[in-house]
Amino acid sequence: PMPERRKLIAGNWKMNGLRAAGLELAKDLAGRLDAAGSVKFDMLVCPPATLVHSVAEAVAGTPLAVGGQDCHVAKSGAHTGDISAAMLADSGSTHVIVGHSERRQNHGEDDALVSAKASAAHQAGLVAIVCVGETLEQREAGKALDVVGTQVAGSIPAGATAANTVIAYEPVWAIGTGKTPTAADVAEVHAHIRKAIDGRIENPGQARILYGGSVKPSNAAELLSVDNVDGALVGGASLAADDFWGIAETCR
Ligand code: PGA
Repeated sequence: PMPERRKLIAGNWKMNGLRAAGLELAKDLAGRLDAAGSVKFDMLVCPPATLVHSVAEAVAGTPLAVGGQDCHVAKSGAHTGDISAAMLADSGSTHVIVGHSERRQNHGEDDALVSAKASAAHQAGLVAIVCVGETLEQREAGKALDVVGTQVAGSIPAGATAANTVIAYEPVWAIGTGKTPTAADVAEVHAHIRKAIDGRIENPGQARILYGGSVKPSNAAELLSVDNVDGALVGGASLAADDFWGIAETCR
């Protein structure tokens, strides 16, 4: 039998966190994780780029992992305001989120760019967390599976493996809204993604597929027990240690 996929509880801080509060949150989580000893999940925080290095230093030696929220496709160069995957790695990141719907919407990122960013992440030795998800309009038109399948096909670069690539299914209409799909809908999309990564990710049965969108302690147990849900990508509820830890604890 296949070894069990270890769940990944990932926090996306988005554009939140000044130094004092961000470091306190990260240290609090790292302390709880350290004290918990052997747990059945991995935990990751993705602070804003300004805090990646200091958070990584503050939690060094604990099992709490640190990641970026985006990266540029190039290794370096004339790209004012951008950050390369190598810089994230150099600052203590082991992961980077790419293709979040806020990047796709606010920065016009398409599947080809997301794929190139994931590839850049891999070159730098980072795990790419590739986000996909349909809008409300697409779901209501019955196109959710098609949209997600197309995004998966276009956003995963050559060289992707179960070790260097995580997929996050985040229905756009569930992000920051308090709305979540039914367990049956989540199961349907995650099963579809599991099939869609076959031939695109080496060792597809071991690849982790996260659910994201309004995950909180009160719905985490149900969402995280759905077939093919291998963890959560958490926004708002990752900004309070009790909430984020409460989500993780449902898979202890
Ligand atoms: P949310 O965000 O948990 O605040 O809905 C999730 C995300 O955007 O990753």
